Amino acid sequence: MQASDIEGDLTEVLHTEADIRAKLDELAARVEADYDGQDLLLVGVLKGAVMVMADLARAMKGHLNMDWMAVSSYGNSTHSSGVVRILKDLDTDIQGRHVLIVEDIIDSGLTLSWLRGNLESRGAESVEICALFRKPEAAKVEVDVRYVGFDIPNKFVVGYGLDYAERYRNLRDVAVLAPHVYS
Ligand code: IMP
Ligand code: MG
Repeated sequence: MQASDIEGDLTEVLHTEADIRAKLDELAARVEADYDGQDLLLVGVLKGAVMVMADLARAMKGHLNMDWMAVSSYGNSTHSSGVVRILKDLDTDIQGRHVLIVEDIIDSGLTLSWLRGNLESRGAESVEICALFRKPEAAKVEVDVRYVGFDIPNKFVVGYGLDYAERYRNLRDVAVLAPHVYS
């Protein structure tokens, strides 16, 4: 789906597919340089991070492992609740592993700060975070994110895995959702 296919639902395109791909290539190179041959486990947060994971992981030249978690934070609303619940846990024992959490977006930071603590408590050797988007104005807790793609304004965005009520994940670009869609 292209932004032009659903023009009436969007107010502006923030980042195009090409933009995003170039940024993920850059982040992948940084990650590989930092981990330099160490065993790396990418943990994707379902479902929003599916596209990020797919492109980030394929941009890497070396071997890596992937696993997935699903946590609930939102329901169908457009604001963070701060309530985090594990809906699907890892298949992997991360004791002694280098873990990189792969996320679509950091809004309040509540989900990621909880998730990092959770993974650290399982005895991971290291836990770092890679997020494609961050909304600095929405932060409620400080989260130390080693890899950030783009800082974006505090608006509700969809596309490239990001949804509103489970729609728009298949939009190729990332765009601001028009308020009439959710109000
Ligand atoms: P946080 O706990 O407030 O940082 O929210 C994190 C999660 O909320 C993300 O992983 C997304 O699934 C969702 N989210 C936050 N902002 C947006 C947005 O603008 N569009 C779509 N989903 C969002
Ligand atoms: Mg998410």
